[in-house]
Amino acid sequence: MTYPNVELHIDGKWRPSNSGKTIAVINPATEDKIGTVAHAEKADLDEALAAAEKGFKAWRAVAPFDRAKVMHKAAALLRERADTIAPLMVAEQGKTLIEAKGETLAAADVIEWFAEEGKRSYGRVIPARGPGIYQLAVKEPVGPVAAFTPWNFPINQVVRKLSAALAAGCSIIVKAPEETPASPAELIRAFVDAGLPAGTVNLVYGVPSEISEYLIPHPTIRKISFTGSTNVGKQLSALAGLHMKRATMELGGHAPVIVFNDADVDAAAKIMSAAKYRNAGQVCISPTRFMVQDGVYDKFIEQFVANTKKVKVGNGMDKESRMGSLANPRRVDAIEKMVQDAVSKGAKVATGGNRIGNKGFFFEPTVVTDVPKDARAMSEEPFGPLALISPFSKFDEAAEEANRLPFGLASYAFTSSTKTATAIGSAIEAGMVSINSFGLALPETPFGGVKDSGHGSEGGTEAMEAYFNTKFITQTGV
Ligand code: NAD
Repeated sequence: MTYPNVELHIDGKWRPSNSGKTIAVINPATEDKIGTVAHAEKADLDEALAAAEKGFKAWRAVAPFDRAKVMHKAAALLRERADTIAPLMVAEQGKTLIEAKGETLAAADVIEWFAEEGKRSYGRVIPARGPGIYQLAVKEPVGPVAAFTPWNFPINQVVRKLSAALAAGCSIIVKAPEETPASPAELIRAFVDAGLPAGTVNLVYGVPSEISEYLIPHPTIRKISFTGSTNVGKQLSALAGLHMKRATMELGGHAPVIVFNDADVDAAAKIMSAAKYRNAGQVCISPTRFMVQDGVYDKFIEQFVANTKKVKVGNGMDKESRMGSLANPRRVDAIEKMVQDAVSKGAKVATGGNRIGNKGFFFEPTVVTDVPKDARAMSEEPFGPLALISPFSKFDEAAEEANRLPFGLASYAFTSSTKTATAIGSAIEAGMVSINSFGLALPETPFGGVKDSGHGSEGGTEAMEAYFNTKFITQTGV
């Protein structure tokens, strides 16, 4: 595998930035510099904006049926190339090869689902109050989109925005992550090679704040989509509001997991430990705040810890690795401090708690129990391999704790009682509730948060709506 010097894609061409500036890309498992990514500045952004304007005119004129043909071809190319793309993602992001390949193949499924959904973007005919009157609600693409995506799922975070936007007939400028630039560039390449008109999709990298502050207010851009932290999301939302731009915000989470006495404890521990250490916990829907009812508390901890100890950590390219490095040193520092803070306030480390080695951004899969509510990790998103487990006795206590934080993205519950399942499903303030499984993030199902976790959806029919304006046309005979 040769890691590339990643270029911008503007108006149908791959090219360096006008200034020739680049940003270094580091392999988080080795800390070696493995390549560079082009650093776009204002002149490049102006070209991308002009291209997106032109691309929008061309692409919106393509019928949804024909848009779907291009999208299906892109999906096929992505599948064909998955074995060469996945190692790039491992080298830049740190996750395991199995996860990187899975993410690449799942992206092809996302593209295909939205390609088909685009064909079904129906408006409606509203019954009129008199004869000869047609009242039509028509869906029109909102216009050129600016999408800002993070480094934790370099392809997945782009593909959901890109596929929904393209299926709706929008053009797009993607500001992909500078830390993990090559795999999202390969996603864009699949679309370009599939035959998208020049300017329909543009790819830039640079200083995130400079790019967002330039693109969001720009009159060409009609819609913003951002995935990242709540803090940044609030700033970008405010800017979008100031300039009357529609926005989808996929922000942080702090997912509660409620395990009731009547749950299948083995299954809960197995499903949640697998979910916890996926992508080293750098997942917005990662299970984090475990509340386990007192009758099964010790048993759940024993099983969860046993599963945690089996997670083999290592370079994502090693076949035996089940968890790779974290993506950057910021996360290692943050997790280390959160564990130290929790322990200083009385929590117990059941396993893990330390950095691994002195090369690469590795951290042990970590379980901390009996965590007091004033521990920082109980309120701040860990975004790393850290599970916090505390006991509860009554349903209301668990529901109250689940809703204590301003976040409301994913949540999980385990119970064998239909009554409890129904009650907890309705009590939790979250955009997604998964009961007795890890059943989130499919292309066909809604994906999004409430409260400080943002608004809008990146899955299901709801995701398409974000890229449409509704136009009302009333027409009478002449
Ligand atoms: P960060 O807040 O600096 O950045 C988060 C993401 O936003 C990055 O991709 C970054 O490039 C981008 N970004 C930052 N400032 C921006 C701006 N002004 N305009 C446009 N984009 C901007 O944090 P980080 O250290 O990179 O990540 C850590 C935190 O971010 C985590 O704790 C987590 O809460 C959040 N995060 C969430 C997701 C998610 O899937 N929801 C993904 C990655 C990071």
